[in-house]
Amino acid sequence: MKLDPTTQVQYLKGIGPRLAEVLDAKGIHTVDDLLHYLPFRYEDRLNPRGIGELQPGEMATVIAEVRTSGLFRTRRMPIFQMTAGQGRARLKCMWFNAAYLKDKFQPGQMVALYGKVEEDRGGELQLMQPQFEIISEAEDTADDASEKKIVESLEIGRIVPIYESAGQGRLTPRWFRKMIRSALEQLPQEQADPVPAAVRKRLGLISHREALWKVHWPEPGESFEELQSARTPAHLRLIFEELFFLELGLELKRREQKAQTGIAFQLTDGVRSAIKKILPFHPTNAQKRALKEIAADMTKAAPMRRLLQGDVGSGKTIVAFEAAIIAMENGHQVALMAPTEILAQQHYFSARRILEPAGYRVVLLTGSLEEDRKREIRRHITQGNAQLIIGTHALIEQKVEFDKLGLVIVDEQHRFGVLQRFKLMKKSAEPDVLVMTATPIPRTLALTLYGDLDVSVIDELPPGRTPIVTRRVSDDRSNEVWEFVRKQVAAGHQAYIVYPVIEESEENELKAALKMYKELSGKTFADLKVGLLHGRLASDLKDQVMRMFQRGELNILVATTVIEVGVDVANATVMVIEHAERFGLAQLHQLRGRIGRGAAKSYCILMTGGKVSEDGERRLDALVRTNDGFQLAELDLELRGPGEFFGTRQAGMPNFQVANLIRDRQLIEVAKREAAAVLTGPNAEVSKEEIDRALRHMRTRWHKTYGLVEVG
Ligand code: ADP
Ligand code: MG
Repeated sequence: MKLDPTTQVQYLKGIGPRLAEVLDAKGIHTVDDLLHYLPFRYEDRLNPRGIGELQPGEMATVIAEVRTSGLFRTRRMPIFQMTAGQGRARLKCMWFNAAYLKDKFQPGQMVALYGKVEEDRGGELQLMQPQFEIISEAEDTADDASEKKIVESLEIGRIVPIYESAGQGRLTPRWFRKMIRSALEQLPQEQADPVPAAVRKRLGLISHREALWKVHWPEPGESFEELQSARTPAHLRLIFEELFFLELGLELKRREQKAQTGIAFQLTDGVRSAIKKILPFHPTNAQKRALKEIAADMTKAAPMRRLLQGDVGSGKTIVAFEAAIIAMENGHQVALMAPTEILAQQHYFSARRILEPAGYRVVLLTGSLEEDRKREIRRHITQGNAQLIIGTHALIEQKVEFDKLGLVIVDEQHRFGVLQRFKLMKKSAEPDVLVMTATPIPRTLALTLYGDLDVSVIDELPPGRTPIVTRRVSDDRSNEVWEFVRKQVAAGHQAYIVYPVIEESEENELKAALKMYKELSGKTFADLKVGLLHGRLASDLKDQVMRMFQRGELNILVATTVIEVGVDVANATVMVIEHAERFGLAQLHQLRGRIGRGAAKSYCILMTGGKVSEDGERRLDALVRTNDGFQLAELDLELRGPGEFFGTRQAGMPNFQVANLIRDRQLIEVAKREAAAVLTGPNAEVSKEEIDRALRHMRTRWHKTYGLVEVG
């Protein structure tokens, strides 16, 4: 059978339905997926190390012959030991808890070993827990001579690709090697290259097919270092290609949006003075700049697609209200959507405080309202009585008929996810769209996630804020912490105390908000007013508690992470987070962003209980060290990897096959630039045919990666 990149892997010789399932779990469905399953490291078996030249502390590949092996039972655990030799030189290898290796090695076998070189107590070198591959059997056990020869030619005397095993070790690196090799051999000749020639030439890219071969089977002269760091021409071609087609799709979307006719709002002196009238304070320069950019978009006929990015507390809300006024003064309606009801509530309260006195008609439409009330509000919206409609994203999902919707504002964008955003924009093809994210994200990620949006940044906090002091405390010192909270309350301030879960369960011993609420309100702070807020409260109760806290009727709010985003109570100066080690970095930064919103000095106290993992330590250290959300976002991306960044995996973050957002950050910008350049054609550089081919390829990829999302 002739293979095609789109052939399902289960039709490959040697892969039945069972193995296909294992591969499926790894995201490998087609031959193309298999070919993009790249080695995560390489072994230099062309120039393997002599045992005599090994240095303690290094990672080394050694090819040697098995001499003796055996399992030793120490008091603490079974240790498997194998001695390998090159001529007279000997090297001891040790594996802990490895009874499963018992019958693995036969004297005379050749093994490739990869591991860390260490000195034992007697000063002799040994390999600790090396990964290994038996590369040739002792003469008498080799059963199939031709099979043996293939394995040898692929596995010794060259640089060998090492793949991550799959299916609990059933699919070994060796298995992948053979399978990928045979798939490569069976693929037909390369089709026309989907990356236009001018781009390939400018960047010196090799062909796709050649790249696939070389990334799996590096040629003898290849730099080992470049291979390990994914910087060979083969790697660069594959990475660039992946990023290029992502950016091409985003760029195309952006152009399509720009080409649509939207509303050209008028920015008259009347509108300007209407804006000035509502401002409760002087905007910062960054806020002014952002508004100017937004206003410029709004006055153009092309629909605005803009992201407003700014750290927690940087003051995005007022900018959104200013934009809303432009639309309302022009006779249009505005929808403002927040990810949670609490946040929608809060926007509603500020909108009423700031906008209603100027005569704007504001309504709140959330899922938890009584059916009758909802119907009434919907009628107001349809008839155009309501000008600013605030709600959760249910606003988009419910059938709300607007009279004249001109501007859609989405707050806390990162909670919505990329795919949802596409859906939202499709629904509202004509109105201007402003999305706001409180969580600063690294520029690299912004470029991919929001590549189809223009970006404004508020990079300055309102004046008069004192930086938040962040401290780490072990929870056996909670008494001191409570004493401190008490002092702050006595000084007229308010405090949050946050817990990771609601109810204590047997599996985890985390102190739960409910239980601690009882203890704190009943004993520790029995003389103070303590409230409780968590996601499972009925929503009118939630509102009530939140409102009481906002009005200062509660001194302390015990809560789960429902308060994570957006909540704004300037008088709150203390944020105590228990089991801080359990929270993600972005989440901790968001929580901390709830304080430091007024002039008084604020304190974030990260309490830890029990042992903190290494990553946990790094997160907490980072928080103590810096208040800068952008720096934290970079670190978070590094610690967690792009896939888990802000839970973006669920949120429809592109899943890369070969690219890596951190390692390849520069290439993202190159890909974006090249994608934009291609779309300016056809011209002397790119022919129509090339553009069409690139677009076809892009659509197939997008369809595969993002499912239903349509592009182009
Ligand atoms: P975020 O960007 O996190 O949504 P908000 O819009 O909630 O921040 O603003 C945080 C707080 O700062 C609010 O209490 C708001 O009233 C206040 N604020 C915003 N801009 C200014 C400013 N220019 N001067 C003084 N206070 C401001
Ligand atoms: Mg906000």
